[in-house]
Amino acid sequence: MATPIETHVDLASLPKQERLARMRHSAAHLLAEAMLELFPDAELGIGPPIDTGFYYDFRLPRSLTPEDLAWLENRMRESVARRLPFQMASISREEALERWKNQPFKLDLLKDLEDGAITQCTHGNFTDLCKGGHVNHTGEIGAFKLTSVAGAYWRGSEKNPQLQRVYGALFETEEELAAYERQLEEARRRDHRRIGKELKIFELFDETGPGHVVWLPNGATIRRELQRWMEDLELERGYRHVVTPAVSKRQLYVKSGHWDHFHDAMYPVMEREGEEYVLRPMNCPSHIMVFASELHSYREFPIRIAEFGNMHRWEKSGQVSGMSRVRIMTLNDAHIFCTDPAMVEAEVEGVLRLMEHAYGVLGLRNYRYRLSLADPDDKEKYVDNPEMWQKGEALLRRVLDRLGLNYFPAVGEAAFYGPKIDVQFMTAAGKEETLSTIQVDFHFPRQFGLEYIGEDGERHQPIIVHRGIISTLERMVALLIEEYEGNFPLWLAPVQAVVIPIADRHQPYAREVAGALRQYRLRVEVDDRNERMNAKIRDAQLQKVPYMLVVGDREAEGRAVSLRVRGEGDQGSVPLTEVVERLRRERDERLLTPGVHPAAPAPAAGG
Ligand SMILES: [Zn+2]
Ligand SMILES: [Zn+2]
Repeated sequence: MATPIETHVDLASLPKQERLARMRHSAAHLLAEAMLELFPDAELGIGPPIDTGFYYDFRLPRSLTPEDLAWLENRMRESVARRLPFQMASISREEALERWKNQPFKLDLLKDLEDGAITQCTHGNFTDLCKGGHVNHTGEIGAFKLTSVAGAYWRGSEKNPQLQRVYGALFETEEELAAYERQLEEARRRDHRRIGKELKIFELFDETGPGHVVWLPNGATIRRELQRWMEDLELERGYRHVVTPAVSKRQLYVKSGHWDHFHDAMYPVMEREGEEYVLRPMNCPSHIMVFASELHSYREFPIRIAEFGNMHRWEKSGQVSGMSRVRIMTLNDAHIFCTDPAMVEAEVEGVLRLMEHAYGVLGLRNYRYRLSLADPDDKEKYVDNPEMWQKGEALLRRVLDRLGLNYFPAVGEAAFYGPKIDVQFMTAAGKEETLSTIQVDFHFPRQFGLEYIGEDGERHQPIIVHRGIISTLERMVALLIEEYEGNFPLWLAPVQAVVIPIADRHQPYAREVAGALRQYRLRVEVDDRNERMNAKIRDAQLQKVPYMLVVGDREAEGRAVSLRVRGEGDQGSVPLTEVVERLRRERDERLLTPGVHPAAPAPAAGG
């Protein structure tokens, strides 16, 4: 016999997150109930709450359609209207085995439960194996909507059957649900995977494999501009650039510790001529080799070694996504070798100032800094050296405070070899992601036995600052596509201007206009297709080209163009020389939008 369990709960007294979790999980019960009416043979998986709603996994005789979702949602609302109580009860294993004898996934879950700890939950005529966490009755479920269906393996393992996971969004009020849906819509509108395809920025081919981005000419142009700009900024700040190989002997990463901490995330080992080689997961050991290739004097410090270095991570194929989660990426990497903590502090400050400058030019605003610290209780994950951790943390805190930057500490987020500052960006989908980092490292120098000759003529150990500024080019371009919605500022726009001749007889002048712009390395195309002018203008707008230069008889006569600016429309007739000057200036000053100067970096507090 099932033994009822009293579970009345005063919802209003609970913290909002717990109240929501109960509503969301309860809604999953209603979804399972509805599904069994639609498919009496449906096999039920699990139905937990998630941070925007809930899901339930099912094995079904066919794929669900949008019509099915609408039907299920209506059926759920019927149960809501009936205000059916959720009744928990304790049952014996025999009863449970009998009740779910046709539900293989429930039987599988039962194996994990101790006798005496098996409970069920009933509302109306539906009973599910469940450990609790509901509202009192179905009328207390908030505002919800079934949103999507995705494939999911039972217990997350590819060896198990694939199920259909039905997602629902659920919030306390209709207003909150509507706000969430608006945000989803915004994320869809800005999605770099869609825009990247439409604007021919990148492709992912089945033949090249998941996570291996192919940069098309438009994407390669954006990438080159970013890299040139960054390398120039680095040159101005005393960095020296190197080029190091993507493949090294496995032993190098054993020595660095990457192999121990990281080999699951590396491509498999290649063996030739009795040697083992790997694709590098990080550039640090390569730059350490460069540093160690000669014995340096203290006078040469700080030594800043930089490279747009490619790295390789074996992400599971289910986890790669567009350009934001990939397997091969190119990092705006540098390692700054310092003699002492005071120099480290000055260099970290310089890196933070460079970050503020770079993000200002790119118009990025939606970020904050995270001071990522070790978890002192986790000796497994972090190098055991309390003094090193304390020194590093204090130093990073001082710099962040001095610059008056917005930051928050996070325990357990450090690299295995040292504390770091992470730059946390808010994506269009509303998720916070680490874009870039600055790490202070007392560990690798010891690991590699690095030395330099100090002022006293003795040998000393340097300290390394690892840093990225604009992250990997893959992640940065994904972020910029979403930030700009594909409307790249002129200096980054793959095609900066399109010349549109009104009729065939205007083509010679159109080519002349293009030539005048190209002379200054402006990226310009002539649209000489046999199309109507309006169609050409529309296509250039769809490709988000910043400038359209329409030329006809009057323009050819007056050595002018009829100027159309993205987002601003028709500007009328403008002399060609003026247009060339305007575009050059806008490009060279890296203006974000026509006539708008990049915002100055956030002011630093005095120190
Ligand atoms: Zn439940
Ligand atoms: Zn590094």
